Amino acid sequence: MTMKSTTCPFCTIDESKNVLENDRAVAFYDNFPVTPGHALIVPRRHIASFFEATKEEQAALFELVSEMRERVLAERAPDGFNIGINDGTAAGQTVMHLHIHLIPRYAGDTEDPRGGVRWIMPVKAPYWKKGERKT
Ligand code: AMP
Ligand code: ZN
Repeated sequence: MTMKSTTCPFCTIDESKNVLENDRAVAFYDNFPVTPGHALIVPRRHIASFFEATKEEQAALFELVSEMRERVLAERAPDGFNIGINDGTAAGQTVMHLHIHLIPRYAGDTEDPRGGVRWIMPVKAPYWKKGERKT
């Protein structure tokens, strides 16, 4: 049973950092926020992948995504959000305890935000320029 790992930053996080919680998941602010209010929603159980989570855990995680969104909206009034999971090392995951990034976005925080999460592959992101691209 993979309940807790003594070497995992999320299993060992100070409980006072938790902003929201339910039976199966907790939410706290990212230590190295990409934008102000960047939060992480994680299952209580130490599992690496979203696809290892039970249906109940998946539902509990997304319940906190919605609650955290409400909180960040009230506190910071962002204009949009990126919601994402890096699932696996190849996909960029660095902490091997499943987490959903909730990243508030603010109008003008980047010059051209079009494409959002597509920018993990910068060459492929601007599909609207397809005709102009060589690759
Ligand atoms: P990923 O690269 O998707 O695995 O994301 C890991 C995230 O965890 C990054 O956004 C880090 O800034 C964040 N992070 C790492 N350690 C901590 C910590 N102790 N408390 C809060 N956030 C953390
Ligand atoms: Zn863990």
